[in-house]
Amino acid sequence: MISLSDTSLLAGLNEDQARVVASPETDLLVLAGAGSGKTRVLVQRIVWLVRQQGLSPHQILAVTFTNKAAREMRLRLENQLGVSLRTMWAGTFHGLSHRLLRTHWREAGLPEHFQVLDSDDQKALLKRQLKENQFDTERYPLRQVQSFINKNKEEGRRAENVVAQGEIDQMFLKEYFVYEHTCRRQGLVDFAELLLRALELLRDTPSLRHHYQSRFAHLLVDEFQDTNRLQYAWLKTLRGEEGRIMAVGDDDQSIYGWRGAQIENIHHFTEDFPQAVLHRLEQNYRSTGTILAAANGLIQNNQGRLGKSLWTDGAQGDPIRVYAAFNEQDEARFIVDIIQQHVREGGLRSECALLYRSNAQSRALEDALLRAGLPYRVYGGQRFYERMEIKNALAYLRLMVNRQDDGAFERVINTPTRGIGQTTLEKLRAHARDEGQGLWDASLSLLATGSLSGRAASAIKGFVQLIESLDEQSMTLSLHETVEQVVEQTGLLDFHASEKGEKGQARVDNLKELVSAVRHYEPALPLTGDDDPLLNLEGREALGVFLTEASLDAGDNQADEDQDAVQLMTLHTAKGLEFPLVFITGVEEGLFPHQMALEEGPDRLEEERRLCYVGITRAMKTLYLTHAESRRIYGKDTFCRRSRFIGEIPSQWLHEVRLRAAVSRPMMPSRQTSTPQWQSAATLAQASLAERALRIGQKVAHKKFGEGVILQAEGEGDRTRLLINFEGVGEKWLVLGFAPLQPLD
Ligand code: ATP
Ligand code: MG
Repeated sequence: MISLSDTSLLAGLNEDQARVVASPETDLLVLAGAGSGKTRVLVQRIVWLVRQQGLSPHQILAVTFTNKAAREMRLRLENQLGVSLRTMWAGTFHGLSHRLLRTHWREAGLPEHFQVLDSDDQKALLKRQLKENQFDTERYPLRQVQSFINKNKEEGRRAENVVAQGEIDQMFLKEYFVYEHTCRRQGLVDFAELLLRALELLRDTPSLRHHYQSRFAHLLVDEFQDTNRLQYAWLKTLRGEEGRIMAVGDDDQSIYGWRGAQIENIHHFTEDFPQAVLHRLEQNYRSTGTILAAANGLIQNNQGRLGKSLWTDGAQGDPIRVYAAFNEQDEARFIVDIIQQHVREGGLRSECALLYRSNAQSRALEDALLRAGLPYRVYGGQRFYERMEIKNALAYLRLMVNRQDDGAFERVINTPTRGIGQTTLEKLRAHARDEGQGLWDASLSLLATGSLSGRAASAIKGFVQLIESLDEQSMTLSLHETVEQVVEQTGLLDFHASEKGEKGQARVDNLKELVSAVRHYEPALPLTGDDDPLLNLEGREALGVFLTEASLDAGDNQADEDQDAVQLMTLHTAKGLEFPLVFITGVEEGLFPHQMALEEGPDRLEEERRLCYVGITRAMKTLYLTHAESRRIYGKDTFCRRSRFIGEIPSQWLHEVRLRAAVSRPMMPSRQTSTPQWQSAATLAQASLAERALRIGQKVAHKKFGEGVILQAEGEGDRTRLLINFEGVGEKWLVLGFAPLQPLD
């Protein structure tokens, strides 16, 4: 029986939702499709428990998918209660475990200031260890050892609990023992360790366990379908006998199987908590009827689902638009055009989300947005040119162009590792300081005077020769061949290829994407001045221009936190979010579903399909699926087939967009064709300036940068890019349509 003394707490909920929120204090499992209000119900349940049942917020522990979701939850409670709840236990599994260990470091057997290792740190540590132990990483790559350790930890097994099956396992196990020992000695805690250690702390310290079990009267978990075995055990332990647990999830949105998430936890839940009441929510409030029907049609192709039906009483909405692009640039320009139209019609940029399967895909999209002067933010990942592996590759190129670039030198002198330690580096720095030289020159003079130890000397010599040789090769190579040689000969590609799982793969993809980017490269900066119309894209000069643009891309253009910006993220990151206008890009076989999944078999394919379901159900009003007929992968044009997922959506919901004629083709950077294009581009740009009573050489005032002079212009119409030299600020590239410029003379 629901008796409500404060019905306002249930305002805005439908009957099913209200029933969940106002449930008696028992275990609850809410299984429901996307957009049915699971997250909303979970948050409102907390409000209910506090306001209606009189619990203290400190008796509640909420696990959500992101810290952002946790923050929103707290804000909502704070608004309703009028008190600050910064200390409430709401966060991610890792975050909460960390908090537990920080509070009880002594009982957990950790030093007070233990250090958390991220996956890169863990890899570096293992690498040193394997080398010391003369482990055969040629035959058994580092990532296999790393994944052996992490998988066992995620299953709750310490080295001593592992039963090795066969010789290889035994070798891995030996390393697990050593690794565990090192971590303990140095007070290091990796990600899986956070959870395992927290679990052991509760298991082995009854007083603490009882304390937390009685403190947390209610545990609430969002995105339950993506919890792994260890996380589930963690929840069960904290709940104890007295607590109550509420789990909300959607089996159709389980997308972390590759990281050990156990969709079976949903099935186990009702066995482990037999008194749990199962609720279903079937009304979707997020999407149009069309989007929902498409999502349902797609997911029906998966076997063994728990099965559910979602409906909406909202509008049927527009059909889902499918655009077959000529290539990835055409795809990006098409998307930019639609977004600009959306903005012209009064929409916000932040209402638009660009989703992709692999991070590397963001590059072409970012380029198009930059050129159009559309501010954007990349979530849950960095912008392309800010990614570590890209910065490393660019640093090699910078050093080739300019040996005095100490930043670049420092960045890559020992990346990938070539045995140049801190001592040697310190020596180089000291010498450079004393002699007023750069690090490169310091290296040369220390080599010449024989003041380095044998090992250091040969490592530095190898590095110097590598750069010299790459530089020499670049004289006769095209720009993209140069970049290709750099990522290969420096060992960067191999270095990341040996990394574990998706992360290493993503880095390799990004490096390959860099090669593609360069091959396709069309400079936005005019290459030479007026007096030298030679557009020689081969060789050094092009490299210089490319690097300038890359640093521009990495710099100023990131939208501010509060600026209205287009949202870019992977499909994984988009989980739980919603946007009025969504583009799922690169819907091609091999890209989405990803090649790796296709090779690994039907389970992984189903997971990709669920990921596609997640993507589609992010859209509220309008959804575009775009795919390219050819895409540059590692500098080569690859023919792409549209994804099977498009074929699995009943065709009645789809509408093909055909407007290729209206979308400009990419310009091929070749000497023969580019001259006339540049000339006409310059004329167009000047005409666009003239329309606003501006010209090259004109003095202008800008709201933020002050006074300056227009030096160059490129592009046309609103998208014309201007190079302006501002007094005291320096040179800036601005986009005409977005630059509030006042002519001064
Ligand atoms: P996902 O599976 O994608 O995480 P979800 O089930 O958690 O989705 P919510 O994000 O909670 O769904 O809700 C989806 C949208 O529907 C939100 O904008 C939410 O505010 C809205 N919504 C939920 N319930 C109602 C309701 N009863 N009336 C109006 N809007 C609602
Ligand atoms: Mg949700």
